[in-house]
Amino acid sequence: MKLALKILGGVALVVAILVGVVLWNTSQFGPKTDAQAAITLPEPPAVDVAAAAESLGAAIRIQTVTYASGDPKPGADQPWIDLQAALRERYPAVFAKMAMEKVLTHAMLMTWTGTDPSLPPVILMAHQDVVPVNPGTDADWTHGPFGGVVADGYIWGRGAMDDKGSLIAILEAGDALAKSGWTPKRTVIFAFGHDEEVSGRGAQEIFALLKSRNVTPAMVLDEGFAVLYNFPLTGKPAALIGVAEKGYVSFQITAATEGGHSSRPPRDSGAVRIARALIALEEKQMPADLSAPPFNEMIQAVSPDLPFMTKMAFANQWLLGSVIAGQVGGDASANAIVRTTTAPTMLTGSIKDNVLPQRASAVVNFRIHPNDSVASVTQHVKDATAHIAGLTVTQYEDGIGSEPSPVSATDSEAYRVLEAVARATGGGEVAVAPALVIGATDARYASAISKDAIYRFAPAIYDDVDLNGFHGTNERLSVDNLGRMIKGYAQIMMALCS
Ligand SMILES: [Zn+2]
Repeated sequence: MKLALKILGGVALVVAILVGVVLWNTSQFGPKTDAQAAITLPEPPAVDVAAAAESLGAAIRIQTVTYASGDPKPGADQPWIDLQAALRERYPAVFAKMAMEKVLTHAMLMTWTGTDPSLPPVILMAHQDVVPVNPGTDADWTHGPFGGVVADGYIWGRGAMDDKGSLIAILEAGDALAKSGWTPKRTVIFAFGHDEEVSGRGAQEIFALLKSRNVTPAMVLDEGFAVLYNFPLTGKPAALIGVAEKGYVSFQITAATEGGHSSRPPRDSGAVRIARALIALEEKQMPADLSAPPFNEMIQAVSPDLPFMTKMAFANQWLLGSVIAGQVGGDASANAIVRTTTAPTMLTGSIKDNVLPQRASAVVNFRIHPNDSVASVTQHVKDATAHIAGLTVTQYEDGIGSEPSPVSATDSEAYRVLEAVARATGGGEVAVAPALVIGATDARYASAISKDAIYRFAPAIYDDVDLNGFHGTNERLSVDNLGRMIKGYAQIMMALCS
């Protein structure tokens, strides 16, 4: 009896200590507060936001649509010529201050040389092209997709958010600064690619050119994230600053077989082996990593807004890590930011129901987490399917794939300025967190000249309805957001380059 009581007492003590440790860790879990944002943002010159909204509408009406790599084809590039003429006409002050270089004919590289050219420059990016509107969906738009209508507090049309909003806001900010007599100490560069939505060759060439000039920037800023009105993890607003983006590679897995009549099928045919390969890849996912940046830093930064149980779980990964990993892995959006994802996309077999395929194949698309590389994914695909006979694995269309970007710094002056602008954009109270961009942007090419200073953020607040417009129907930007963006870009230039 005494012994039983002693054991019970011991267990109770262990449980109490455990609970104490869990609660202590939870209470200590929070954003890093390293002298964060002792930055007072400068007050930028006033702009006429209504006139800026009309400029954005005019830019939307010029249909710089790209469909395939190599667009715009020679002879089909009049919209790019028209867009640039319109920009030059609307923003004469900044065009007068900045030297213009055209790269691959239509990509724009504009340089405002600072009074101290030895300082690393700041590079602001946007792209001139837009994605097409799905045929047959024009009538679903409240205002025509290329009408550039300003109504109900919004500028409506394809490109309003992606990415002519940033293009116009950066030029508005630059033009207002130029007119105000402001002169940068640090060089300011605008890099406006012409084909981001298809291949980004314009941006690729711009960064190759800057690399040849040994340019190492203090900051590169492109599209990617913004202030999200409803951040799914917390259910509250959060400003996300993209500090990295995933890589991209696809593999074709092929099984060659004899083919023949389906009345006398072999066991384990090519089609079946392809199916087994897909199941093997589905069941052997690449590892999730909740402790790597930017995911761990993002969770820390938004932790004050997390529900208590979620915060407790993240604060005690030594105990609850497998529980969280299971939950994160079961949510498609969360899963995409903690691991390299596996997505079978194209399947081919025979062309008739009674004919066995002579060649069955599947294409599997991987979005590569910064922990992995094209080489490690290649090895993973081979390992996971090694037990299935007669398969060949090749990179799809002989593509070279794109490596994940490096993860940029969150303790630099550039990040602190962005953090201050992001917080101000969100109204002053919002959590600001580094994050991983899962799509591809032109910023990936900036890796050629920087390993730690590339960020993806627009100083705007997007709600769930706004986000549906990205590449979808009823793309629109609120006039308020255009005002926030102009102000934010101006503050970034003034804070970093004055
Ligand atoms: Zn874009």
